[in-house]
Order: sequence, then structure tokens, then C-alpha cells
Amino acid sequence: MALNLVMMGPPGAGKGTQAERFAREQGIPKISTGDILREAVTAGSEMGLAVKAKLERGELVSDELIIGIVQDRLSRPDARAGFVLDGFPRTVPQARALDQMLDGRGPLVVVEIQVPDEELVRRVRSRRVCVNCGTNASAFSGDPAQAERCRNCGGMLVPRSDDTEAVVRDRLTVYWRDTKPMVAYYHERPTYRVVNGAQSPELVREELVTAVASATERSPSELSAESGPRGAKG
Ligand code: AMP
Repeated sequence: MALNLVMMGPPGAGKGTQAERFAREQGIPKISTGDILREAVTAGSEMGLAVKAKLERGELVSDELIIGIVQDRLSRPDARAGFVLDGFPRTVPQARALDQMLDGRGPLVVVEIQVPDEELVRRVRSRRVCVNCGTNASAFSGDPAQAERCRNCGGMLVPRSDDTEAVVRDRLTVYWRDTKPMVAYYHERPTYRVVNGAQSPELVREELVTAVASATERSPSELSAESGPRGAKG
């Protein structure tokens, strides 16, 4: 059965880190709309130029644009066995569009990672990403603020340009305004779960595995046993 997972949560909740690891362990792609947009900005493509200012201000890009990007990405063969979406959907219209895209592709598991705002501001200020490959330093163990080089490619680790405190506070305001209504959209579903993100990444991961297992009516050990490239197992 395909494993379709949406990771929801405010900026700095650890979504990216958890999504990355979970997707790797399950052999399914992690699809981060923020990464796709940042890559477009770095590449200087037409789309990148169009969204650059919004990204820098921490504002959402249009539903139409982002829905098109996700539709395109989910239609690739590697997403047939499942995916982990990080940063999408962020609005109710995006959530509705996702339901339409998934018609007949198995259930959608929605996990919300909850973390108090002040903890988020503290975390985001210390976040570092690789200049070369965009890997989040905290995707690996250890304190990201202490690391100097990317463990993936050896590139320099720098703060993300949209990680200043003012921008982070704006992004939290945007999150509560636009994204919280999505919780109302999803929370009655039997496949909706909440995970406590205010604990170590290892404990968050354990809770995440338990949550996805229960939402898909598996045991955590069954889910772990299924890990590996899903495409190969059908
Ligand atoms: P993220 O890395 O998920 O925090 O996304 C970084 C930025 O990309 C956001 O602040 C938005 O400007 C934009 N973005 C990413 N995903 C979406 C989305 N689903 N809808 C609208 N804008 C998005």
C-alpha cells in the first residue's frame, strides 16, 4: 500500500529533518516545496525570479503556482509508492487540490508536529543549511549551530536568508493565519495524528513512526520492516 504522508507544523518544528529521515527509511521521496522554490531562486529560472521577493519576506506564493509544482512532482513514477510532503499543503485550497490529486492513490496520513512559538524562534535562529546542496545541518545528529561543514557534501553551513528573527515571527503569523485552518480541514480524519515536537529529534522520530503506523493500521515494527525502496516491493 502506498504511504502518502503530509508533515504539518510551523517553521522550525523539525518537519524537514523528520521528513527527510522518514522518507529515506521508507524508500519514498521527500517533497519539500520550500526546497523546490529555493532551488528555482538559486538557478535564476523564470519561476525563481517571480517568487524570490515573497520567499525573502516569508510570504506564501500563490496557490495556483504551488499546486502546479506539486501536481507535476507527484506525477513522477517515484511518487507512486508514496511520498512525504514537507511544506505543502499550507492553505485549505492547497489541501483540497491535494485530495483531488490523490484520488485512488491510497489514504493520506497527516501528521502535525506541535512546538510552542518561543521554542521555534530559538531554534530557527540557530538553523544552518549547506550553501551547496541545501541540506539542513540538523538532518544529521549533533548541534547544528556547532557544525561548520555539511556532512553530505562538505559545503559551508550558513543561516537561511529567511531565518532572521523578524522574518521568523512573520512566518509564524502567516502559519497561524493561513495554515491553522487546515488543521480544521484535516483533524476529523481517522488518519490525522499529532506529534509532540518539543523533544529530542530521536523521540520525535519514534512518535512519528508510531503515529504513521497507527494511522495506517500497522504496528511500528511492521512499518520498520517495510523500510527500503518501496518501488521494488510494489
Ligand atoms: P519552507 O522551507 O517550507 O519554510 O518554505 C519557504 C518559503 O517557500 C515559504 O516561506 C513560502 O514563501 C514558500 N512556500 C513553500 N511552500 C509553500 C506552499 N505550500 N504555499 C505557498 N508558499 C510556499
